[in-house]
Amino acid sequence: MRHDNAADSFRALLATGTENGPVLELRQLDRGFLMEGDVTIAVDYSTLNYKDGLALTGGAPILRVSPMIPGVDLAGIVESSRNPDFMPGDKVILNGWGVGERHHGGYAQLARVRGEWLIPLPERLSTRQAMAIGTAGYTAMLCIMALEDDGLRPDGGPVLVTGAAGGVGSIAVSLLAGRGYTVTASTGRVEEAPYLQALGASTVVARGEFQTPVKPLAKERWAGAVDAVGGTTLANVLSQMRYGGRVTACGLAGGMDLPATVAPFILRGVRLLGVDSVMAPRQERLRAWQRLASEIDPGRLESMTRTIPIRELPAAAADILAGRVRGRIVVDVNA
Ligand code: NDP
Repeated sequence: MRHDNAADSFRALLATGTENGPVLELRQLDRGFLMEGDVTIAVDYSTLNYKDGLALTGGAPILRVSPMIPGVDLAGIVESSRNPDFMPGDKVILNGWGVGERHHGGYAQLARVRGEWLIPLPERLSTRQAMAIGTAGYTAMLCIMALEDDGLRPDGGPVLVTGAAGGVGSIAVSLLAGRGYTVTASTGRVEEAPYLQALGASTVVARGEFQTPVKPLAKERWAGAVDAVGGTTLANVLSQMRYGGRVTACGLAGGMDLPATVAPFILRGVRLLGVDSVMAPRQERLRAWQRLASEIDPGRLESMTRTIPIRELPAAAADILAGRVRGRIVVDVNA
């Protein structure tokens, strides 16, 4: 049921206690509970990212305040605004900026945030499609922008995507294939090969290929790579890069460490590009969302997306950390 603008209260998932995993409850909250901000938004949808999974389960200290409404993404309609850039009725997107960590987030029918954190919803996207993309998809685009700003081109050679059946991975495969790249998808779920091929992967490889002991230099395979996994996987990817290849590191689903040598950097001129979505400057975000609106294939996006009601979040959070979520999860906060 959609939130009534005139109502004083709204429904949210509230996380209490930050140590040993928070207690999660669906609560009816007074709008006075919301934090400081100049724009109030009636939220349509949020999403579940890996980081939200860590926040909801207490797998990492993501939630910095208790009690806290988690959810690092939201899309909805401006209800009221003291910010000259936003008017009631405007459709907006928010990703990151500490929302869902230090500032109440997207798992709620209402959000009050700083207008400078908001991106106007591009015309071609619905609020649901924007959340099907979410932080995972916007990060996939930041990775592609970083690779291309560094000179990668579709005719430069094959591009590898690790963690390919996950959120960042699925959208990266789809976007890269749509731009004409030859994409190899690495996955621990080889049964998802038909899904990854339908997204545009020309080859699917088992993730085990990247979990072997790391050689300083291995056979040259990739001109570019989008890595969402980290750890031994990223170290092996680095050792397999072609001369002058580029890799973006955005994730740690396989580990925070990086057991690599400097050989790929000093002998092959390989470049390792870090990507952060949370504090990325507004201009980069606007560029990423404009490109997403024009480059995402709506059919492929739909095929990788499942929508859940807010009450299913705790179970879905455990699933995403266990690597059991395929593609993207949209959260309908009004269902
Ligand atoms: P998902 O859980 O949707 O995707 C992660 C994928 O990684 C899984 O689907 C799985 O893919 C693979 N994977 C999971 N566990 C392991 C493991 N132990 N070893 C190897 N591969 C594994 O998460 P998201 O796509 O939302 O996020 C991916 C990563 O990117 C996360 O670490 C997240 O924190 C990070 N991230 C960082 C951002 C930033 O700003 N830097 C922004 C967004 C995400 P498969 O089954 O295909 O192998």
